[in-house]
Amino acid sequence: MPASSPSSRQNLLLIGGGHAHLEVFRAFHEQPPENCKITLLVDQPTAVYSGMVPGFLAGQYQEDALSFDLRKWAQAMGAQLVLGRAVGMDLDAREVELADGMRMSYDLCSWNIGSAVVGLDVPGVREFALATRPIGDFAQQAIPRLRDAIRLRGKNPLRILVVGGGAAGMEIAFCLDHRALQEHGVKPETTVLYSSHTLLPNADFPLQNAVMRQIKRRGLKFRHGQKIVALHEGEAETWNGERIPFDLCIWATGADAHLADGWIPVGPSLQVENHPEVFAVGDCAHLTYAPNTPKAGVYAVRQGPVLERNLRAMLRGHPMRLYQPQDDFLTLLNLGDGRAVGAKFGATFTGKWVMWMKDWIDRRFMRKYQTRSIR
Ligand SMILES: Cc1cc2nc3c(=O)[nH]c(=O)nc-3n(C[C@H](O)[C@H](O)[C@H](O)COP(=O)(O)OP(=O)(O)OC[C@H]3O[C@@H](n4cnc5c(N)ncnc54)[C@H](O)[C@@H]3O)c2cc1C
Repeated sequence: MPASSPSSRQNLLLIGGGHAHLEVFRAFHEQPPENCKITLLVDQPTAVYSGMVPGFLAGQYQEDALSFDLRKWAQAMGAQLVLGRAVGMDLDAREVELADGMRMSYDLCSWNIGSAVVGLDVPGVREFALATRPIGDFAQQAIPRLRDAIRLRGKNPLRILVVGGGAAGMEIAFCLDHRALQEHGVKPETTVLYSSHTLLPNADFPLQNAVMRQIKRRGLKFRHGQKIVALHEGEAETWNGERIPFDLCIWATGADAHLADGWIPVGPSLQVENHPEVFAVGDCAHLTYAPNTPKAGVYAVRQGPVLERNLRAMLRGHPMRLYQPQDDFLTLLNLGDGRAVGAKFGATFTGKWVMWMKDWIDRRFMRKYQTRSIR
């Protein structure tokens, strides 16, 4: 076990630059762990904070306001940065497999690689829609694609189709609708389409209701029970053969696992059963003791300090801390027009002050983890 031989240098592999790892980077920079060689494996040198992406689409933020420089974090921690995409692991050999066939060995490793989007294999999705994951690619491509669609549409109203009625799909619909109106001067026909029976399936009824009121007020359309079976150029085909025209289609369906083996199952200490040298956090982890925990950044953020303590504890042979997912959290959805909808403990609130609060919370998070805060 790595923990039983503290005098030897342990090989710690951090995979992904997700929310929980940001706290590890920050804490390891402030107080480096002893006897440890750190490697950071990431598929992209920049990570993007998804909570501010809708605001970026609405024109409220510039790109650098929502980006983390992972090269700088690696440097600050004294870690080696490796650019590559992890695709699997061999638990017995203690090796991580990369897309290019390379293998990286570890004594201790932690996964925080987020998630992919469900349904990318639906015919036509990769070709005709823009998926919300990887989030960095999405943020870079969304506005150029919107502008192309506006140009091709001429004076006709732009038809935006957002597939997915979760929090991300809703925020994107409101924010793109606002941006299109600003850039085009013509109110777009924005449709949110979801295949489940409820809008915002992870939210309470009062929040669902509050968002529905905003959908009506802003003149967005919503359709449910409309599972898409194929996308064609400029048209979405539903399960019952209906064709829905679009100029821009955003694929914002739920989270799917990156790895071929699916989600990484972990217990309350965030470790894989029988393999305490492997941790997983954020979307890529499946909490076996709390299986209904939604895939949301707020959980990954709260896991950060527990992960950081437990990685140190593993290196020193100390006992583990346990993570319990929060029952309720403050939900804040950006409406793109300077207002936001919020919900907490079953109460909802809407207005400019709610957006002000969201902006304050998001900027505070960024200040903590952007590398300009490195001393
Ligand atoms: C538009 C949008 C808005 C959202 N808004 C919110 C919100 O307001 N609040 C909220 O709680 N949730 C929100 N979510 C959900 C949230 O984005 C995810 O739950 C959250 O990002 C998961 O965080 P994470 O720490 O697991 O990983 P991520 O933050 O997704 O980070 C994953 C990291 O791993 C890297 N990576 C990915 N694959 C690999 C690989 N194979 N090998 C190596 N590195 C890899 C990535 O480049 C990245 O650095 C939103 C989602 C979207 C799409």
